[in-house]
Amino acid sequence: MNFNLRQLEAQETPFYYYDTQLLRTTLAALDAARAGEEHIHVHYAVKANARPELLRIILAAGLGADCVSGGEVRAALEAGFPAESIVFAGVGKADWELRLALEAGIGMFNVESLPELQRISELAVEMGKMARIALRINPNVDAHTHEKITTGLNENKFGLAMEDMLEAVREAERLEGVSYEGLHFHIGSSILDLGVFARLCERINELQDVLEKEGIVTRNINVGGGLGTHYEDPDVHPIPDFIGYMDTFRKYLNLRPGQHLHVEPGRSVVAQCGMLVSRVLYEKQGHEKKFLILDAGFTDLIRPALYNAHHLIQNLSSADQTATERYDVVGPICESSDVFQTQAPLPPSKRGDLIAFRTAGAYGEVMASQYNLRRLPGAVFDEQQN
Ligand SMILES: *Cc1c(COP(=O)(O)O)cnc(C)c1O
Repeated sequence: MNFNLRQLEAQETPFYYYDTQLLRTTLAALDAARAGEEHIHVHYAVKANARPELLRIILAAGLGADCVSGGEVRAALEAGFPAESIVFAGVGKADWELRLALEAGIGMFNVESLPELQRISELAVEMGKMARIALRINPNVDAHTHEKITTGLNENKFGLAMEDMLEAVREAERLEGVSYEGLHFHIGSSILDLGVFARLCERINELQDVLEKEGIVTRNINVGGGLGTHYEDPDVHPIPDFIGYMDTFRKYLNLRPGQHLHVEPGRSVVAQCGMLVSRVLYEKQGHEKKFLILDAGFTDLIRPALYNAHHLIQNLSSADQTATERYDVVGPICESSDVFQTQAPLPPSKRGDLIAFRTAGAYGEVMASQYNLRRLPGAVFDEQQN
């Protein structure tokens, strides 16, 4: 990631800094991995970061959008994503959200339950529309990631169990206003072990055999997102292994002639191009440890408090990066969970130093809140953009 320290020092903290050049390089790598294969479609998961400046760059790289709310569908349309390139997932789509998506004529509704299928059918009939739908199936493949971000196991609020797939497809074929177009899978997030995706492919092959025996044609296979990003060493792995990811599907997924493959990476597209920048307010010497109290808290970056997530913390102001100190790095919010990291190795740090949380382009700014009536963090872009 590139940045100009003088530019960052001139800003009010805390703020998110985005290296749009790195985003472009990442998108170019994704495009190279897709290798011009027209049946492969990449939909960017808008929930990872919905900054319009970033959405426009992602759109220009030829990606579609993957949305999980009416607000995201609207944001994608406003950014210029063609309606047909938008897929809409989520377990609890409200009527207004379904109507908005039906009116726009989005590419696909990823349906997560039979009552939802029924409701989409009713609304589509009422509006004189036809909804293209994919059924989200839980393939019972363990993604081995954090329990709060694992979604592919059988009993889950997300999706339909495998045993219910056939009945759900038949129901979709029977109902008016909806057309069965495909299967959707999303087994979790932050997956770096490509073997997990290989096991998903094998499961999809089996499920496809089941449907084919019944004479059911499936035009689209959507394998969700979930490709992880390296939080520990962002400068060693600035670009995800998109080639390994795509090649896993090429190798293990038995696509039928004419079938389209959809992938929905979110995090891996934007994580490394963003960082949260804050200032040290106070260095507090306790009896047993030292605290660095920052002007950023979990209202600016909630992943450490919510998922015990780790972000590499750096002191950008320090000329010597040798980590000779250990600090508990904490925020100003009146909650004891407002701790970014305990005993973080850092160079000696003082009031006014800029402290960066790396790999924060995904699920960072979008999750910011105004709890304690705090201001939302700002956004700063690399100079090429301005
Ligand atoms: C969140 C989500 C994604 C993106 O997950 P990442 O881990 O950010 O890649 C993709 N598809 C669906 C349905 C999602 O809910």
